[in-house]
Amino acid sequence: MRRFLTTIFCCISLLSAGTAFAEPVKCLAKVTKLSNKQIISLAEQGYDIARRGVDFAEVVLDKEQVNAFVYKGHPVKIIIEDLDQYVKKVKAAQNKIDAYYTYATMEKQLKAWAEKYPEICVLESVGKSHEDRDIWALKISDNPNKNEPEPAALIMGAHHAREWPSIEVPMATAKLLLTEYASNEEIKTLVDNREVWIVPMVNPDGVVFSMEKSKYWRKNRRNNGGSYGVDPNRNYGYQWGVSGSSSSPSSDTYKGPAPFSEPETQTMKKLVEREKFQGSISFHTYSELILYPFSYAYNVDNPDRKVFVQMANDMARFNKYSVKNSADLYPAAGECDDFMYGENKMLSFTFELCSTFIPAATQIPVFNELNVPAVIYLIDKVGTYGLVTPAGRDELIESLNLESARRAIVDNVNLFAGEGNVAMRNEVLKQLEKISQRTAELVCEDLRKGDSTSWQSIKGTPQAGLAISFIRNRVLFENAHEKDLYREDLIEEIKNS
Ligand SMILES: [Zn+2]
Repeated sequence: MRRFLTTIFCCISLLSAGTAFAEPVKCLAKVTKLSNKQIISLAEQGYDIARRGVDFAEVVLDKEQVNAFVYKGHPVKIIIEDLDQYVKKVKAAQNKIDAYYTYATMEKQLKAWAEKYPEICVLESVGKSHEDRDIWALKISDNPNKNEPEPAALIMGAHHAREWPSIEVPMATAKLLLTEYASNEEIKTLVDNREVWIVPMVNPDGVVFSMEKSKYWRKNRRNNGGSYGVDPNRNYGYQWGVSGSSSSPSSDTYKGPAPFSEPETQTMKKLVEREKFQGSISFHTYSELILYPFSYAYNVDNPDRKVFVQMANDMARFNKYSVKNSADLYPAAGECDDFMYGENKMLSFTFELCSTFIPAATQIPVFNELNVPAVIYLIDKVGTYGLVTPAGRDELIESLNLESARRAIVDNVNLFAGEGNVAMRNEVLKQLEKISQRTAELVCEDLRKGDSTSWQSIKGTPQAGLAISFIRNRVLFENAHEKDLYREDLIEEIKNS
């Protein structure tokens, strides 16, 4: 009880200084003794929930809201007293070496990379923000100026302005791909066989406002007339507004006047529809979570759940984060992944980085090191798992090389062997058949040249049974119609395999 009273007293004294400002001072507070239903209801009312547990939520609140919780019998513990001051402190503690990217330094770095590595990257302004800033996208691939039929991944940061670490991981990923390309065979293979798009700052106006004014700011900078900002991560058009977002313009989770009303979300929509990605990660802070769709409601059927769960668990091996279905945290509609997956069939994930909104800049290398390998994993797997989802298009399969086709077969057969869901199994089998046909085509090409290396590699892959039978049928059929196409000893070996 004493602790309870102290908490009330603290809250009141802490927050009373905020009345001089037009916008109330906000704190980060842990509200306890909450039921799951109450936490969901907070999300429904538009509260900005940073993290939740079974019976508590860490929420961004002003003084009045803190008092209201206490009054209703929910003990409140203040984690960060004044969030604007908190931002100011993190900013002031930076130095030349340990510093978060700003809009200006990000732009400068992206331009420098584009100039230094023109053979493997190209920088494009894919759209403009409310305040007319460029939304930059760096494409990394061999032949970057051509749109090649290669599996594609989209890596995004800073939908939410104050979540500065979310800019860092995409930038660190770009740096790794570019600087290691010449010396690291695995990175080279990845870059050569994928198209990677990095958009480190989806919401540049919000980031600039947050950093330059030391404001604890989440949304973009739309002028609502009397208040500012739409939450870009509630403004995507898939199931927009059905849950967990606010209609009130002053709310931190304001969904906007209409789906895709914002230039920032329109920009991402245009890019996604143009590039046809197979997978994506959208970075946020905080909670140390990997989330997968759907977000807008509980228990929505996700036909690709098996792939999502496998990939999320694999990525969690790198950063030790917890894996969750997005809505199980609390339903929130109009967010990025629901559109990416729901509308575009991408394997879309959200990472909630770190255990606080903006860790000290000295922590940047630490969270980068934990998370960049997970991003590399995703970029790789859009070319295997990504091919059996509805986003895996025929031209991607038809342009696979032998090693990529073999890996796609291995990954998917391993995951779907014994799959009980008939509809899912049939979908996967359809794609696997195409990949196996492509494999057979490549192997037969080599065999006709008298080279059996690729045949040996497929023969030694236990998952490739379907491809092997396609090769056998093809060799025997073609041999029956045209003699001397294949060497006699190879025909014998294939016949008996
Ligand atoms: Zn966020």
